[in-house]
Parts: sequence; structure tokens; C-alpha cells
Amino acid sequence: MTNGGVSFDQLGLRAPIIRAVSEAGYEEPTPIQRDAIPVALGSRDIVGCAQTGTGKTAAFCLPLLQRIDELAEDVPRIRALIVTPTRELAAQIGENIGKYGKYLDDIWHTVIFGGVKEGKQIKALKEGVDILVATPGRLLDLMNRGFLSLKHVEVLVLDEADQMLDLGFLPDVKRIVAAVPKRRQTLLFSATMPDPIRELAETMLNNPVSVAVAPVSAPADRVAQRLFFVDRTNKKSLLADIIKRQQLTRTLVFSRTKHGANAIVKFLDKRGITAAAIHGNKSQGARTRALAGFKDGKFRILVATDIAARGIDVSGVSHVINYDLPNVAETYVHRIGRTARAGESGVALSMCDVEERDYLIDIERLLGKHIERVVEHAFPPSEKPPRPTDLEAKRRPPKTRKSSSGSRPRGGARRGPRRGGGGGGGGGRGRGRGRGGGRR
Ligand code: ADP
Ligand code: MG
Repeated sequence: MTNGGVSFDQLGLRAPIIRAVSEAGYEEPTPIQRDAIPVALGSRDIVGCAQTGTGKTAAFCLPLLQRIDELAEDVPRIRALIVTPTRELAAQIGENIGKYGKYLDDIWHTVIFGGVKEGKQIKALKEGVDILVATPGRLLDLMNRGFLSLKHVEVLVLDEADQMLDLGFLPDVKRIVAAVPKRRQTLLFSATMPDPIRELAETMLNNPVSVAVAPVSAPADRVAQRLFFVDRTNKKSLLADIIKRQQLTRTLVFSRTKHGANAIVKFLDKRGITAAAIHGNKSQGARTRALAGFKDGKFRILVATDIAARGIDVSGVSHVINYDLPNVAETYVHRIGRTARAGESGVALSMCDVEERDYLIDIERLLGKHIERVVEHAFPPSEKPPRPTDLEAKRRPPKTRKSSSGSRPRGGARRGPRRGGGGGGGGGRGRGRGRGGGRR
């Protein structure tokens, strides 16, 4: 993450903040921090895009802390609000604020989210907070019942902004935006930002600065991506095979469904491989324990739905395995971004069965390249490997397949995914449909 030799004290940040980040082990700002922090300190609105794991949290938290500190008031009131899609991400950002703000006096922050008792959260709000980190549901609930007011908010942050502005969350976010003053600073951050969402975002922003340090939706550098074509019925044994053969340390396995995640954990358990699941049907206690156990190495495999696809920062994740391909291409970028964070490297292995071919086409179009195929492992040894022509057929939308003879030379330029074209092999899944998924 080289940034051209800029140091934290060239960004306009005050000494207590610089001291805290250097104690956190940050030697120099990442590119998004270098570019966004001075703009944010100048009170401008920002749409900030940078790859997963490149320090977007500090890019918005540091200037926000400085602003709240400068305007320190005797009575704490909610002057900064950070909204996130998941409880785990809210908690993580709360921890970061504590870390970055440890040398600032008298700044109070708290985190509120659903799925846990509200008593402690209400108590913290009553005692007074300057910075609130929240998921939308609990935030609106407590606001509607008069436990908090957003009338004094000066800085509004939407982390994972494209998801916050997508169908599942949009109604709630609109209510939140309606409850904060019009005169405010708004900061939107994400690794992905589809154009229609960006346009929608502009309506909530005041003359925003777009800060982007890499092409939008670029996956993290240093993730080796590989793809297995495999029949659905063979996915479990392939997973076991991968776990046996590869040098896995911390591994996140993504399943499209909660039921599927449970089934994978059960299967692994039978094979003597300890894993935990994290998904929306688990109690918050179980979710927190699963993530904590994964972080401190109690088990090396965490099986997750997309509630863990975004934002979650666990160091040393060596592998991400997409047991199912996500049905929204951007989610792929976020999922594989759970590895290779903060300058590390990692491996992302994806399984694709014939029914997921359209998802693969969408993903490769977003990436602008093919994911390397692993042919020799595509099927467990007991099965005959597919003929190359079958694979060829699977990786193409039907429209471009001229014949099934497979006579076209392999590796030619035509194998690149087409960008922007309408075709895409059918399915007609418009952007926005099936994405998001509402409260988590
Ligand atoms: P993003 O939101 O861009 O995905 P995070 O804010 O979660 O990334 O940061 C990813 C990891 O990088 C975290 O562990 C964080 O502590 C670390 N990090 C952030 N900024 C720096 C920096 N300037 N130098 C080194 N590590 C950093
Ligand atoms: Mg983040």
C-alpha cells in the first residue's frame, strides 16, 4: 500500500490522533486515507471508493473524530452518526473509534444494533454520546420511541454505502436521512459503487468530492482467484478435498443460504473438521461467539452467509471459499476481500455448478477478466473429468455459443468477458433485484 511517501502528519490531523494511529501500528496512511482525510477535514461531502481492506474505516473515522473534538461541547449530543448494514460491522467500527480516539478527552461513543437487549444501549444514550454507530433497524426503533434524537448530527457516514442505498435498506436510510439536519457533512464509503446507486447517492450529498484510488469494484490486490466447475452434488466432497489438500489457516466458506451454511458445518463436523456458522438465523450471542472464536483461532473454518461478506476485518484469513457463487456480482468482490487485508495476500476459491453460470458471467464482467479455472480438481477423483468442450460450454452465455463442437482455439481474445453488453446469457436479473436483503 505505497502512497507516495506521505505521512500521517501531513494530512492535517492533530497530535492525539496521530499518536493513536501510530500506536495501532500504522506507519503511513493508505492511499484512500491520504486522499480522503484532507478533503473530509475541509468539511466536504465524499463518495470514497477503495478496495477491500485498504483502511476506509480510518479514512472516515479520523477526520470525524477531529471534527467532533474541535467542537467539543459540555453536553454530549449525537453529532456524528455512522450507519452500517450489519451488527458485527457496527461493533467493529465502534472498536476502531475507541482505538483511534483514545487520546481525545471527553468524546463519547456507543454502538447500537438489534438482536440484543436494548437496556444497556438506552442507558448509554441517556448518559450522552457524541458519536453513534448503528444498524438502521434498532436506530429507528429507539429514535421513534424517543430514546435518541438525530437533530444535532453534523456528520453522517454510510459505510458499505452502496448496500445501504440498495433496495433492502433504502427505506430505512431515507427515514434516517430525513431525521438528520440538511446542513451536515455526508461521507459514503465502499469498495463497490454501481452507477445507479451512485446517482441515487448524489441526491443526498452536497457538492461531493469523489475520492477513488482504484477503479470502482476492483478486487483487492494479492488475492489469487481460482474457479472450480463442479456439480452441486459434488461440492461437499470437493470442499473436504480442498480443506485436506490446501495449506489453510483461517478460512471463510460462503454459502448463499442459511440452511446451506448449517449443512456445510454438519458435513464438516462428520469428517472431524471443526467449523462454526454465522448467519441471520443464529442468535446474536451465537453470531458474536462464532466470529470471536474464528478471530482467536478456536476454529479455523467459519461458514457464513453474506452477513459476513462486507466490512468484517479478521487478520490472517488465508482462504475464502465460495461454496456457492453470489447472485450479485459486487458481493463476490466483498467476499473475497475478507482475505488479503492490510497488505497481506490470500486465496479465493469458487465453486460453480451449471446453474450458477449466469452469476459467473456477471462476476467476470464486473471484474473485467476471467477467473482462472482449476480443471484437474474440478471433480473428485472418482468421477471422470468433464470433456473440455463441456467446460467451454459452461463458461459461455448460450448466445455466443456457435456450436458444441469446441473447434474454436482455446485462449483466444474472445474469451474475455464482454463489458456493458445487454446479453449476458439470460436470466434477466436486473441490478438491484435479489441484492441487499434488508435487515440483518
Ligand atoms: P476497509 O474498510 O477498506 O475494508 P479497514 O478499515 O477494515 O478496511 O482496514 C483493514 C485493515 O487495515 C484493518 O485491520 C486496519 O487496522 C488496517 N489499517 C488501516 N489503515 C492502516 C494503515 N494506514 N496502515 C496499516 N494498517 C492499516
Ligand atoms: Mg470497511
